[in-house]
Amino acid sequence: MDFELSSEQKEIQRAASSFAQGEFDREVALELERNHQFPLAILKKACNLGFIGIHYPQEYGGQGYGVLENSLIVEAFCRKDSGIGVCLSIANFSSEIILRFGSEAQKKRYLIPITRGEAISAGAFTEPDHGSDITFLNTSAVREGSHYLINGTKTFISNGRIANFAIVLCQTDPLAKPTYRGQSTLIVEKGAPGFDVTELGEKMGLKMTSTTEMSFDQVRVPEENLVGPLHRGFYQVLEFFDESRVMVAAQALGIAQGAFDRALEYAKGREQFGQKLVEFQVTQHKLADMATQIEGARCLVYKAGWNFDQGRIDPKLTSMAKMVAGRVAVEVAQEAIQIHGGYGYMLEYEVERFYRDARITEIYEGTREIQKNTIAGALIGKKG
Ligand SMILES: Cc1cc2nc3c(=O)[nH]c(=O)nc-3n(C[C@H](O)[C@H](O)[C@H](O)COP(=O)(O)OP(=O)(O)OC[C@H]3O[C@@H](n4cnc5c(N)ncnc54)[C@H](O)[C@@H]3O)c2cc1C
Repeated sequence: MDFELSSEQKEIQRAASSFAQGEFDREVALELERNHQFPLAILKKACNLGFIGIHYPQEYGGQGYGVLENSLIVEAFCRKDSGIGVCLSIANFSSEIILRFGSEAQKKRYLIPITRGEAISAGAFTEPDHGSDITFLNTSAVREGSHYLINGTKTFISNGRIANFAIVLCQTDPLAKPTYRGQSTLIVEKGAPGFDVTELGEKMGLKMTSTTEMSFDQVRVPEENLVGPLHRGFYQVLEFFDESRVMVAAQALGIAQGAFDRALEYAKGREQFGQKLVEFQVTQHKLADMATQIEGARCLVYKAGWNFDQGRIDPKLTSMAKMVAGRVAVEVAQEAIQIHGGYGYMLEYEVERFYRDARITEIYEGTREIQKNTIAGALIGKKG
């Protein structure tokens, strides 16, 4: 057993951290939040330095690294700024479905522009009536000659307004038994006639991201846009979650660490009753608890990433990492606000934003309850 990151991995971690220190400015972040703007210029720079799609093979613009290396980058970015960090980590959301199951032509057409900062992707699985349960979908894709005709509505889709394309999970056989055996993923490009994107209302956090409803009204998609074999979509998405949930866990880990960093610094500087906050044993215990929670989460996140890179698919471990890291991020950010007192409630001190951004990591890509179902299912040997 070796708990040490390799020197190459440490170098990636250092490079990501120094990029974030140099580029993620606090004032810029607050401005982007206020204006609900995605940090496109920073994304472009991150792409130029090879941070985005580092886990794609070189022929598709990446560097051939794995989920663990990608997690180190996501953690470092979210540690410096929860908002910008999450945006950069989801700029290529669900593109791994193309990476794993797509044709050569699809990989070249869609992945390379992502790594150059010329394209952003979206993954459209959730529907108004099908959230945690996507085993049946109302969005249908029906074959018509050399095309598919898509009809339906997806909701809560990240990046919708700015994405160049979306990977859309559709019901391609409504009569399949069980129903999830009749689903497929199709790529829909921005601007396709009948494809409309509407921004949803204000949300608690992730204010730089676009969260949208996507509607499909007789959208014609060429058969080449089907990803992998017909009727394998549900399985593709589940396999994708094994990777993407590690990424969400890495977001949560970075957010937790970032909130902790700020709390520690504040406690060292602020004086009350003639002593620094950090000298009160209560504060010390809070910091000790927070650091211990973060270290526990880190062990799980790195192990889940490493495990995936070894080719071992273990949804139980991935769900554990996501569930624990998400909870830790929320609890640590909450305690960081407490340590800041009234200042923690104010936008400029950032920890309230870290708290709001942490909260989503317990909801998207499977809620905490769904992660528990996966873990319990594996423990009791439940099939399906
Ligand atoms: C900001 C944001 C960004 C998002 N981005 C995307 C995206 O890019 N693409 C995408 O496809 N989706 C996205 N989502 C959707 C997200 O994945 C869903 O909101 C999430 O999966 C939960 O679905 P739901 O909201 O319909 O809740 P529901 O499924 O209705 O769940 C409601 C509650 O019931 C619980 N529950 C449901 N089923 C069970 C069960 N079997 N056992 C125990 N408890 C259960 C849930 O845990 C939850 O607490 C995003 C959501 C948000 C808020």
